[in-house]
Order: sequence, then C-alpha cells, then structure tokens
Amino acid sequence: MAETIFAKIIRREIPAKIEYEDDRCLAFHDVAPQAPVHLLVIPKEPISSLATVSDDDSPLLGHLVRVATQLAVQLDLTNGYRLVINCGPDGGQSVDHLHIHLLGGRPLGWPPG
Ligand code: 5GP
Repeated sequence: MAETIFAKIIRREIPAKIEYEDDRCLAFHDVAPQAPVHLLVIPKEPISSLATVSDDDSPLLGHLVRVATQLAVQLDLTNGYRLVINCGPDGGQSVDHLHIHLLGGRPLGWPPG
C-alpha cells in the first residue's frame, strides 16, 4: 500500500498529539477535531482499509476497538461516545491507513453531517 501521513506520524516524522502507544497501535488527536474529543486509533501495521482486512487481522481489530474504549474511559467520556471507521471514498475515507475515530464530549447527532 502507498505510504500515508499516518506512517509518518508512527515514525515521528511529523508531529501529532499522541495519547497512547503500544507495540501494535498508536492513538493520537485528530488535527481537525469534529468533537471535543476526537482521537484516531491506528494499527502500526499498514493496513489500507477495512476492505483489505483478513481473518488473521481479527485480533488486531479487536485490540484497536479495546484501546479506543479504554481511552474513552481515561478521557471521562462517561455520557457515551462514538467509534467510526470510514471505508473507501464513498464511505468518507480520506487517509488510506485503517483508523478508528473516537468521538465524544458532546451529544452526537445521527445521521452524522
Ligand atoms: P478519514 O476521513 O480517512 O476517515 O479520516 C482521516 C482523519 O485524519 C481526518 O479526520 C483528518 O482530520 C485526520 N488527519 C489527516 N491528516 C492528519 C494529520 O496530519 N495529523 C492528524 N493528527 N490528523 C490528520
């Protein structure tokens, strides 16, 4: 897959406000937040989108979701939050490196704008 800006964030080649890191993933604040809390949780492995994941990636996907839910607790999103994964151009994906958006800190309408 083609190199993305997120690969540069993982390598610390461009700055980001990093909230969490382990051997499999990184979580950092979105540069254009859509809510008071807007984090992106990304795998270090360069998976381009949900459309390219395999059964072997299931534990990694579960880990990303678990990290996001633990961050929601740490960031006091006690009233709830939203996890979003955009997939492909029609799904609103603009960076071709799989990522989970963690949004919270205000009431989130549905459908999203
Ligand atoms: P997508 O539209 O692909 O689901 O989400 C990509 C997200 O990455 C967008 O919310 C966008 O604001 C965020 N983003 C794009 N470039 C950067 C960057 O250089 N740094 C950070 N922290 N976020 C970025």
